[in-house]
Amino acid sequence: MSDFSLALNEDQLTLQKWLHEFAVDVMRPNAEEWDEREEFPWPIVEQAAEIGLYSWEFMAEMMMNDPTGISMVTAIEEIFWGDAGIGMAIMGSGLAAAGIAASGTPEQVMEWVPQCYGDGSKINTGAFAASEPDAGSDVNGYRLSAKYDEAKDEWILNGTKAWITNGGMADIHVVVAVVDPELGSKGHASFIVPPGTAGLTQGQKYKKHGIKASHTAEVVLDDVRVPGHCLLGGKEKLDERLAKVRRGEKGNAQAAMQTFEATRPAVGAQALGIARAATEYATEYAKERHAFGKPIIMNQGIAFMLADMATDLEAARALLYLAAAKVTDNAPDKSRFSAMAKRLATDNGSKVVNDALQLFGGYGYLKDYPIERYWRDLRVHSILEGTNQVMRMIVGRDLLRQ
Ligand SMILES: Cc1cc2nc3c(=O)[nH]c(=O)nc-3n(C[C@H](O)[C@H](O)[C@H](O)COP(=O)(O)OP(=O)(O)OC[C@H]3O[C@@H](n4cnc5c(N)ncnc54)[C@H](O)[C@@H]3O)c2cc1C
Repeated sequence: MSDFSLALNEDQLTLQKWLHEFAVDVMRPNAEEWDEREEFPWPIVEQAAEIGLYSWEFMAEMMMNDPTGISMVTAIEEIFWGDAGIGMAIMGSGLAAAGIAASGTPEQVMEWVPQCYGDGSKINTGAFAASEPDAGSDVNGYRLSAKYDEAKDEWILNGTKAWITNGGMADIHVVVAVVDPELGSKGHASFIVPPGTAGLTQGQKYKKHGIKASHTAEVVLDDVRVPGHCLLGGKEKLDERLAKVRRGEKGNAQAAMQTFEATRPAVGAQALGIARAATEYATEYAKERHAFGKPIIMNQGIAFMLADMATDLEAARALLYLAAAKVTDNAPDKSRFSAMAKRLATDNGSKVVNDALQLFGGYGYLKDYPIERYWRDLRVHSILEGTNQVMRMIVGRDLLRQ
C-alpha cells in the first residue's frame, strides 16, 4: 500500500463541510440577485464575517497555520462552488493581505492585515493595486511613481491603477509603485495607502461580463502622501535591494510577483469550484433530460463529455494541491508550479463549463439555470492575476534556464 495521498485531513474535512453549508444556505440562494444588481454584496459579506469566514484570523489560519498548504485551495474551491461573484467579494481583500504578507515586516503585517477586514463593529475591505491602464502583463511598463520627500519622511504617489478588485472603495490600498524607473520591475516597491488618505479616488467602476458582485474599479492617485512607515519592508531594505540591482547583482523578484506566486493556486481553485458546480448540474441534467426516447446521458457522446469533465477537474485539483504545497514549502520551483496549476485549472475550467452549457442545449443559454452565469464568471480566471499566456511564459522561461 502506497503512503502517497491527496486525502484531506480531519481539520480540512471539517473546514470543507463548514464552507459547503455556507455556500448552500447563504451563497447560492443569493447568487442570482447580486449578479443582477452588480453591487458589492454587503449583507452576505456581513454574514461571512459573523461566522468568521470574512476575517483576518481566517486568512492567517489558512496562510500561516497550515503545514500542508492545501487548506486555502480546498476552502476556495468550496466558496466558489457556492458562487463566484460573492466568492470574489469575500476573498478579494485576501489579495491585499497576501501583498502585505509578501513584502511587509512582521509589524506591518500585524498593523495592516487586520485593517483589511475590520472588526465586529465595521467591515473593512482591502485592495491590491498593481495593474495599470497601459500595463497589465508587462510589469516593466508600470508608470505610477513613488518619490521620497526626505524632509518629511513621506512618499508621494502619482498615477492610475486599472481593474482593481475593491479599488477606490477599500479601506486599505496596497499600491505597487515605481521608485526607480531605470531598473524596470526591479525598481518597484509596495506601499500602504491608509484609510481616508487625501488624493486617492475611485475612477470608473467597470461594468463586467461576470463576477458582477465583485467591485472592480480604477484607482487614481494624485499627489497622495503616505508616511515613511507605509513603505512595505521599510526604506533600509528597499535601499539595499536597489543598490544590489544597480551593482548588477541578482535582485529579488519584484513585490507584485512575490504576491502572485502565492495566490495563483487560489485563482485556479476558484475556477475549479465553478467548474465542479457546472459538472454536477450537467450530470443531473443529463440523467433527467430525455431525447430520442432515453436520458441524454445514455448516449456515449454525452457520457464521454461528462467523463472528460470529471477527469479534467481531478487533474486540475491534483496539480493545484501540488503547487500549493510547493508555495508553502518555499520550494525553488514554486513559481513554475503555481503558473502551471493556474493555467491548467483555468483552461480545464473553461472547457468544462463550455461543455456543461452545451449539454444543457437551449436551456444552457437562458438565465433559468446557473450555467450561463458560471460561463460568464469563469471566463475571467484565464485573465486575472496573470493571463494564461503569461503563465506559459513563466514556465517556458524556467525550462530555458534549466
Ligand atoms: C475582473 C478583474 C479583476 C482584476 N483585479 C485586479 C486586482 O485586484 N489587482 C490588479 O493589480 N489587477 C487586477 N486585474 C488586472 C489583471 O491582472 C490584468 O487585466 C491582466 O494581468 C492582463 O493585463 P492586461 O489586461 O493589461 O492585458 P495585456 O497585458 O495588455 O495583454 C493583452 C493580451 O496579450 C497577451 N500577451 C501580452 N504579452 C504577451 C506575450 N509576451 N506573449 C504572449 N501573449 C502576450 C495577454 O496574455 C493578453 O491575452 C483584474 C482584471 C479583471 C478583469
